[in-house]
Amino acid sequence: MLNFTIGPVMSHDDILAVGAEQVPYFRTAEFSELMLENEALVNKFAKAPQGARAVFLTGSGTAAMEASVINFFNEQDRVLVIDGGSFGHRFVELLELYDIPHTVIKPEFGHDITAEMLQVYDGQGYTGFLVNVHETSVGVLYDIKVISEFCARNHIFLVVDSISSFLCDPFAMAELHVQAMITSSQKALACPPGVSVIVMTAEAVERAYRNKPKAMYLDLKLALKNGERGQTPFTPAVSILRQINARLKQIDVSGGVEAEIERVKRLALYFREGIRRFPLEIASHSLSNAITPLLVRPGHSAHNVFEVLKNEHGIWICPNGGDLKDKLFRVGHAGALCERDYDALFAAFADVQQKGLI
Ligand SMILES: *Cc1c(COP(=O)(O)O)cnc(C)c1O
Repeated sequence: MLNFTIGPVMSHDDILAVGAEQVPYFRTAEFSELMLENEALVNKFAKAPQGARAVFLTGSGTAAMEASVINFFNEQDRVLVIDGGSFGHRFVELLELYDIPHTVIKPEFGHDITAEMLQVYDGQGYTGFLVNVHETSVGVLYDIKVISEFCARNHIFLVVDSISSFLCDPFAMAELHVQAMITSSQKALACPPGVSVIVMTAEAVERAYRNKPKAMYLDLKLALKNGERGQTPFTPAVSILRQINARLKQIDVSGGVEAEIERVKRLALYFREGIRRFPLEIASHSLSNAITPLLVRPGHSAHNVFEVLKNEHGIWICPNGGDLKDKLFRVGHAGALCERDYDALFAAFADVQQKGLI
């Protein structure tokens, strides 16, 4: 199997081996130590400020998105939210569900947001900002510096879903005045799905302790309090947390977050160079290193390409849904991949081209 989707992604063999071990009991000093190490390494890779905390929730990335919405905001807030694709839209749906006043900013398909788009909201009394820094569904990486400057000058609490961008694109939480950053296990962390992470500044921690969400499992107060001693309020996905520990340490001893970002970037550039010989168009004007979104020519079906690669070549690319189903597919660059894997993908694309599918 060769998997170029953006999550779950290919795991390294030593990480897979950890997942094959018996699952240990977790109310122990050993597991607490492992969790405190996970927290310290995630904070380090996020370049979080002094006093930051990270909590690990058992639930896919959306659990951390929902927890962020209900723990950092309430009906008294006014939140700006970027809706540039299905993940941005998920934030909008969460804000609607919990009756949190909000205004939606919709960038043009395939395009970044601009300073001018935000300027109109200067001095309007907004208190929060929600963005998926990389809108994975269409492969657009937003200019976090522009968003950060806007939030800083308006004293707005900035929450960034960095799920598919973490370990793929440069990011520095402290420098960018990001109050909370979200990621999850199945993207560049290259572990099985099931664990999501929220890194919080001291201010975000304080806000979570003040807020009163109508939830128990996703109430961050419990996770923060238990996390002080390296524990979780409920039985966590122990096995995945052990895999995350092995993976974080692997990154740490192999040159750290910078080296991992460079590795993903090198693969992205290798793919983008090689794909030029095929009649496919890169759909995004602001690419993340995490994926390359590709448009097929009119009269062809992107979904069909996905099906043929999967069924005839054992290769997974990432299909799109909804209106984009037949127009767009995506190729990921995170996880345990190398140049040789992309050569195999190019050979499969040559076959698909020969069949007249692209
Ligand atoms: C993958 C992803 C998520 C998480 O979705 P889940 O299916 O709940 O794991 C959230 N936001 C972004 C930007 C993502 O890429």
